[in-house]
Amino acid sequence: MMAIPDENLLEADAPELTASEALYNRALQVLPGGCSRNTVLREPHPIYAAYGKGCYVTDVEGVERIDFANNMASLIHGHAFSPVVDAVNDQLKRGTAYTLATEVEIQYAEELCERVPGFEMIRFVNSGTEAVMCAIKASRAFTGRPKIAKVEGAYHGTYDFAEVSQTSTPSNWGEVDKPASVPVSFGTPRSALDDVVVIPFNDPRRAVQILEEHASELACVLVDLIPHRVGLMPATDQFLAAIRDWTSTNGSLLVCDEVITFRNAFGGAQQNYSVRPDLTALGKMIGGGFPVGALAGRHDVMSVMDPLRKPLLFPHSGTFSANPITMIAGSTAMKYFDKVAVDKLNVLGDRVRKQIEEAIRLADVRACVTGSGSMFRILMKQTPPENYRDAFANDDEVARLKFFLDFMFANGVMLISTGTGMLSTAMRTSEIDWLTEVVLDGLIEIRRKFGQ
Ligand code: PMP
Repeated sequence: MMAIPDENLLEADAPELTASEALYNRALQVLPGGCSRNTVLREPHPIYAAYGKGCYVTDVEGVERIDFANNMASLIHGHAFSPVVDAVNDQLKRGTAYTLATEVEIQYAEELCERVPGFEMIRFVNSGTEAVMCAIKASRAFTGRPKIAKVEGAYHGTYDFAEVSQTSTPSNWGEVDKPASVPVSFGTPRSALDDVVVIPFNDPRRAVQILEEHASELACVLVDLIPHRVGLMPATDQFLAAIRDWTSTNGSLLVCDEVITFRNAFGGAQQNYSVRPDLTALGKMIGGGFPVGALAGRHDVMSVMDPLRKPLLFPHSGTFSANPITMIAGSTAMKYFDKVAVDKLNVLGDRVRKQIEEAIRLADVRACVTGSGSMFRILMKQTPPENYRDAFANDDEVARLKFFLDFMFANGVMLISTGTGMLSTAMRTSEIDWLTEVVLDGLIEIRRKFGQ
């Protein structure tokens, strides 16, 4: 005879799932790995957001945390910034995309071109990946050359060519004089790898030597001025000048990826250098919290996308490119990120790095802090790295960082999984002081668990 389950007993025995656990179980059925972006994964399960306001995010369990991730550096004013919410609400009522152009895309293009001396023309796209892809395709179209060069380990999104060497390891990265073109995705065509030349960061002599071997074939050299995966150290003047000189002399273009670093100065991180790129890829912050990318630069180079020109060298389109929601959100966000706001945020950045340095000293543990402007990164290394190979974490450093990030999260602080933090204008010194107190506690715990 079949036993009839006692409902009361079943209920009592069933383990209580938290709201996030229950959501993750559902997600696992329909999303590969239970997520739409790997960044949100945590062990043993992701935590789901309910709402955010300013620099705080509350999850579906009702736990509030301070947000130093800011959606991977894209929320310059934190969450639900009122001027953006109001501007977007106004536009929402009038429609979100029309198969017609809008005035707001012209207005926002004018504002960005006024902001940066080298932005003569601009085209909006929908992500940083697409912006970098378009910069590469525009460079190929302009020069008629197939290859690009990029810095070892630098992250530029997921276009086949741009992602080469992003995840190189000591077992496959090759000689320092000739870094290997290592694929990220299984099945990347050999031809794509052969068309990417990898150079070491902040090593002008080696970089130029490598570029020389491909002098007549390179459409562009792609450089992030403060590459986060490479250690979040700024490019040196000498490195950038060497690349600028080499590209100008050899008929190649200099492309800066400012998808993240545009926050570093009113005119982007490029404002801090005496040389100008030919093209700049933008994204993240300039969308005011909505999906965005953009490609900006020299008039003659941007003209390869001009459909009035015959022959059209680089036909480009995108269903949601320059949609009015993103345009009004971005324009409003950037209006509030004026020179005064940028400077104020960078002062806060100096404070956070100084205080973290002090915390490291007090905890007497193997760690360092890098970064610039409103960005910081904590690495489990004695001294700041100089390039990707230096920054590469060994097993012990990986374990220490994971322990530290879990500690921070459990104590109410969200950081990016590389140990990176991004400030927003919603933060004040009180939030910075609180962060650094938790950092100190976390570092003391590392020392207790792992030793110096
Ligand atoms: N370039 C850089 C420097 C980035 O950090 C990122 C994203 N983290 C991208 C490009 C790609 O941007 P998206 O995720 O919007 O495609």
